Amino acid sequence: MREAPVIRRVVIAIAAVLLASPAAAQAPMPKWAIVIHGGAGVIERANMDAKTEAAYREAMAGALAEGHRVLEKGGSAMDAVEATIKVMEDDPLFNAGRGAVFTAEGRNELDAAFMDGATMKAGAVAGVTRTRHPISLARAVMEKSPHVMLIGQGADQFALSVGLEQVDPAYFFTERRWEQLEKALNEKRLPIPTRPINAPAASKLISQGPQPDDHRFGTVGVAALDSKGNVAAGTSTGGMTAKRWNRVGDAPIIGAGTYADNRSCAVSATGSGEYFIRLTVARTICALVQYKGMSLQAAADEVVQKQLVDVGGDGGVIALTADGQLAWSFNSPGMYRARASSGSAPVISIYKDEP
Ligand code: ASP
Repeated sequence: MREAPVIRRVVIAIAAVLLASPAAAQAPMPKWAIVIHGGAGVIERANMDAKTEAAYREAMAGALAEGHRVLEKGGSAMDAVEATIKVMEDDPLFNAGRGAVFTAEGRNELDAAFMDGATMKAGAVAGVTRTRHPISLARAVMEKSPHVMLIGQGADQFALSVGLEQVDPAYFFTERRWEQLEKALNEKRLPIPTRPINAPAASKLISQGPQPDDHRFGTVGVAALDSKGNVAAGTSTGGMTAKRWNRVGDAPIIGAGTYADNRSCAVSATGSGEYFIRLTVARTICALVQYKGMSLQAAADEVVQKQLVDVGGDGGVIALTADGQLAWSFNSPGMYRARASSGSAPVISIYKDEP
């Protein structure tokens, strides 16, 4: 093949650089944006019936719409994160609030974290058993206490003292999660605990066909950008099915499952928490953006597709930056995820082959 003349080659090179430049590739900066997840795991078409899939898509759309409403009328990223996660905590489909997974002792122990990218203030709670909305409690720890993290009974007591709704622990009970607990304990040859006091009488779930294998994951998380240019992130979870010994995962660990800083990015993670803690996944993604100048998508892929895979961790993240980049990345077969921003249509996805 004959070599192109020098001038032609220079012109081609300049055109390639211009076309590849972010300015040429990027849509105009959105006024506001929100990106959410509802957990990652073995979520594939083969193990999902049409009804369940539709229910998840509807639940994601409803949660996204809540955040959208807050941001569209000029509300803060923090308000959008809290409002959206509250909707998901109330929805028994997700492993957060009502519908959380059970510990090996048959309890729901809830973890959550909240971070404000403008001030880098943060709040987190772990092992909460009575507060209806752990995400609101995490925010209250940030705004109304001198601390960053409260755990167990003390966290619930603090919730009561700041007027957050308390519920009987049985409020969080769902038959589906109980069945997942029994299965997990049988596999581990551990004893099945008695049903929680005040839980509804046992009823065998009528099989609805194939169900997503989300007994391990199903956490919810949100990152938002508001019209003032501030970002915030939050995560809420029941943790892992059949967890023992007051185990705490990455969700409430600032820098692991949750992080927000206007200067870099806002991230919420979901997956095998132990690995996310060791790699400080959320903070590492933001550090790559901040110090290495990587695009958000490249930074998220670097951590989720390479670093996490190398150590055997599975799951994913959603993230956004103050300059309007949105990203998600997951190394599991699926992740419930959705995004919306001013000026573009919402996207709701579950499987790997979706945008
Ligand atoms: N990351 C959570 C944990 O380890 C679990 C999840 O994302 O579903 O507690």
